[in-house]
Amino acid sequence: MPSSTVENYLKAIWFLQGRGEAAELVPIGQVAERISVTPGTATTMMNQLKKMGLVDYTPRRGVLLNEAGRKAALLVLRRHRLVETFLVEVMKLDWAEVHEDAEVLEHVISDRLLTRMDEMLNHPTHDPHGAPIPTADGEITADGTVVLADCPLGSYTLQRVREDQPSFLQWLAGLDLMPGTDLIITERNTEADTLTLELPGRPEPVQISLPAAQSLLVVMP
Ligand SMILES: [Zn+2]
Repeated sequence: MPSSTVENYLKAIWFLQGRGEAAELVPIGQVAERISVTPGTATTMMNQLKKMGLVDYTPRRGVLLNEAGRKAALLVLRRHRLVETFLVEVMKLDWAEVHEDAEVLEHVISDRLLTRMDEMLNHPTHDPHGAPIPTADGEITADGTVVLADCPLGSYTLQRVREDQPSFLQWLAGLDLMPGTDLIITERNTEADTLTLELPGRPEPVQISLPAAQSLLVVMP
């Protein structure tokens, strides 16, 4: 199994190359910034990843995961998202507080434990934050979501939320604004940088800032 450092690089490159979709080389500076290391450190790691057969790396131009690297990245994401689901569904932890633990556990959970968690959860397809869980074969389905902040007025279903800010998740839970919730954008105020939402069971409209709406992914119902 690759080291946790290698796995974190693979995950970072996967996100930076547009969740594995983009074909454009990712500059090493971006990788370094995402992992919080110097460009020199990241460059050294790129040579290692290339030797391990996980990336296509061109010095001074950038890096892309190859098929083996992509699968390895998706298996780390699978462990992360299954662990989060297990912590919430089975261990009854708050959805706002599981991401940090999953960042650690994703590197150490054995295949045997993971398989058992997946069985106990009845093979979930999404994690508590609404993100799709890659399959055991390292495949992931695009969920067709769009960022709420970019949407015109109308009806949507919240599908997925940004997972790494506990206070933001607690605030969403306080509004019952969880994955699966239907909502209507009734107004966009460009001066105040806010959206006004109608939420189920709330007589009063709710205003959210556009930056907050950047962290919410929706689908058309
Ligand atoms: Zn997470």
